[in-house]
Amino acid sequence: MDRLMPVNKIEDIPEKYANTPVKLLLEYQNFNRKNDNYQKAQLLIAMCMDHRKYLRIPPNFAYMIRTGGGNLRFCDFFISYAISIGKISAIVLIAHNDCGMANLFSVQEQFVEGLVQNAGWDHQQATEHFLNDAPLFEIGNEIDFVLSETARLRIKYPKVPIIPLFYRLEDHLLYGIQED
Ligand SMILES: [Zn+2]
Repeated sequence: MDRLMPVNKIEDIPEKYANTPVKLLLEYQNFNRKNDNYQKAQLLIAMCMDHRKYLRIPPNFAYMIRTGGGNLRFCDFFISYAISIGKISAIVLIAHNDCGMANLFSVQEQFVEGLVQNAGWDHQQATEHFLNDAPLFEIGNEIDFVLSETARLRIKYPKVPIIPLFYRLEDHLLYGIQED
């Protein structure tokens, strides 16, 4: 968490984001900037499916992909689409604290029992589902994970700026992440 860079005033927004939609995103979320009108998407935003977070952004501003943990490993086609057809100018990856996809094995029993009771699965089927898929979707530390996804996508899409940010559940604000 000591790698987070608070954005409490406009001057906290890093200079490198000046004149980019990343700056606008930070202004909408952290400073309640009034909605602008957009004819096309400026950004692709990827974030966790977690119900506790929402973004204050205008219509048409961004493509959004929400997955568990904001994990994009199985979403590359959608990313390619947003870049090629949607012509977005940057990708923002938003991690958050207290993510359910961190430390998944601590909820194995709950997951299995929940599927048995709420979805009508049998115990073995639910256990196999968990054991097969949990390792694919475990993110470990939220910040380390978003930085690893950032690095992976920078290699795959070298001309597209990829920016990792952090959403703190306690204040619903976006933070920069120190990358070094
Ligand atoms: Zn999450």
